[in-house]
Amino acid sequence: MLSVRDLDVRYGKIQALHGVSLEVHEGETVALLGANGAGKTTTLRALSCMLPSTGEIEFDGSTLTGMPSHDVVGLGLCHVPEGRRVFPLMSVAENLEIGAQRFKSRYPADLQRVYELFPRLREREAQLAGTLSGGEQQMLAMGRALMGRPRLLLLDEPSMGLAPMIVAQIFDIIRVINGQGVTVLLVEQNAAQALEIADRAYVLETGSVSMSGRGRELANDPRVRAAYLGA
Ligand code: ATP
Repeated sequence: MLSVRDLDVRYGKIQALHGVSLEVHEGETVALLGANGAGKTTTLRALSCMLPSTGEIEFDGSTLTGMPSHDVVGLGLCHVPEGRRVFPLMSVAENLEIGAQRFKSRYPADLQRVYELFPRLREREAQLAGTLSGGEQQMLAMGRALMGRPRLLLLDEPSMGLAPMIVAQIFDIIRVINGQGVTVLLVEQNAAQALEIADRAYVLETGSVSMSGRGRELANDPRVRAAYLGA
């Protein structure tokens, strides 16, 4: 579904990605792991064309490199950014409506689907998004992306800053979303839980892929255990 070849990204004189290649197959959950500054966020931003890059990005047969990011959404690739970025002065329902711009006629059915996944959002539908807890904002950011009916969902650190119980709920929901047919590329610092739900994973180190493999294999790899699982 997604094929990335030799991706380079520069911020001025700093080269943040050096020839990153990866693949995501339809139906998979793929994790992208790495330490702070390894280039995980940069990779996701390049894939959704929010950052210019060189190399090849192919999604469902279309070349994404150089495409405006709103056209990428139109192809079915949605990005839930680090830090959630909900619209704080709009209600939960209004935030979800913004995510539905592509499929307005299907809005009522899609809204019900999102509310079934996140009953908490239904309870809070009139509340201003800026007053939600961190976990609720994460649910809203994911719900808003799902309103765009993505085929591939890019999730940047969905568990960041959340209490362990909420983190477990978020990972459960990612599993459910994937079970409903949405392919997932997940960036996480929480390597243990990410590897539990990932079919496959890539490890980034200073802008390059240093390891890749099946989730369970990497979870048992001594280098991954030492560097990312605190073992
Ligand atoms: P974290 O887990 O801390 O978010 P990350 O793996 O997502 O880290 P990136 O945010 O992609 O890493 O950063 C990769 C490299 O690019 C780092 O060296 C970072 O300092 C640099 N970088 C990121 N954004 C910018 C920017 N806007 N301008 C200059 N350099 C940047």
